[in-house]
Amino acid sequence: MRAARALAVMFAGAILGVVTGACSPGPSDRDEPPSLVLVTLDTTRWDRLGAYGDVRARTPFFDRLARNGMQFRNAYVDASTTLPSHATMLTGEISLRHGVRLNGQFALPDAAVTLPERLRDAGYATAAVLSSAALAARYGLDQGFDHYDDAITEDYPVFHERWWIRGRRVQGNQRRAWQTRAAARRALGALGGGEGEPAFLWIHFVDAHQPVDPPPPWDRVPDLPGYDAEIAVVDREMGWTLRDAESVLGECVVAVLADHGENLGEHRDEGHALFLTEPVIRIPFVLNGPGVSAEIVEVPVRNADIAPTLAACAGLPPEELGADGVDLRTGGVRDIIFAETRVPTVTFGGAATQAFRTDRYKYVRSPREELYDLETDPQERINLVAAEPERAAALREELESYVRATEHRTAAAAAPVAP
Ligand SMILES: [Zn+2]
Repeated sequence: MRAARALAVMFAGAILGVVTGACSPGPSDRDEPPSLVLVTLDTTRWDRLGAYGDVRARTPFFDRLARNGMQFRNAYVDASTTLPSHATMLTGEISLRHGVRLNGQFALPDAAVTLPERLRDAGYATAAVLSSAALAARYGLDQGFDHYDDAITEDYPVFHERWWIRGRRVQGNQRRAWQTRAAARRALGALGGGEGEPAFLWIHFVDAHQPVDPPPPWDRVPDLPGYDAEIAVVDREMGWTLRDAESVLGECVVAVLADHGENLGEHRDEGHALFLTEPVIRIPFVLNGPGVSAEIVEVPVRNADIAPTLAACAGLPPEELGADGVDLRTGGVRDIIFAETRVPTVTFGGAATQAFRTDRYKYVRSPREELYDLETDPQERINLVAAEPERAAALREELESYVRATEHRTAAAAAPVAP
């Protein structure tokens, strides 16, 4: 335990810092609270965006948001699948606590307090546009939304021969980015045309998710692999959607973050559900808008932070949204990065895969133990459990203690629903 505490202290010391300069403190110094737009980018790796240093990336809209706003360089999700991660974003609680720990098998309970519920109580009009069946209303994330467009009825275009048969599986399950943009325009119409009432709009883009099938001409851009081409398409449609939003709602506070990343060969994996590697749990994350200063933030932040931050931008007490997030305007010390995927439990049986990291070391239990020194081994190739058993044991103890203290402390855990 002493070693575990020492590690925690080291990590806290390393990351000690105060995040300041986000949106202005609240409506007290504004005539009206601002409209808010949350954009979630499914399956988008942080290191495949220009703002994070990828010189091949074609992401000018995201990069401009990052340049003119707060860019979080060390942002993490608590869950590597779509529904749990989005439930975390809307509640400010990590999946261990809110209980939605898998796609398709859990729904967020009515007892949960969500950001759109709090905003609607405060006079906001609320709307959401989803692009994946994984976020259908029956999974409970529609709480607090006046308009929740999960009716994915458009034809899903398939461009390349290899997907003609397999692509039919996503018919009705996913939207292309331009279809998401069209749905967002309809949602903006439903928000009432900006007649003085502030609005909250959540837009979810899913194109970077498999199948990787970019439309022409993006499939023929030199040095732009298909996955990156899909991200480029999303970036363009996101930029135009934000222009649409601003034309209706006026200047908005905009938050953009991914629900998780993607392995592109790391650990011999193509996907995000099985492993908690850095390409999967580390995400792009920016905050932009009136009163948001332009700065790069190195302090680790989490997807759980977005709910209290946007609540605070609306002048609401951030502490009412989630025990696991902080208002990024005022910052705080983040000494724990925890992540989980329960997909291996469903696929192979046994326990969930969980990861716990400090500033330098990352411990994973799947239930096979892994320990990586991210400073000397950022690709997570050398398992140090045998070489450093004391460090592994200390982190195991910390992880177990954290799970015991956090798991399902809310009044109601998520109830399974029929898929
Ligand atoms: Zn996802």
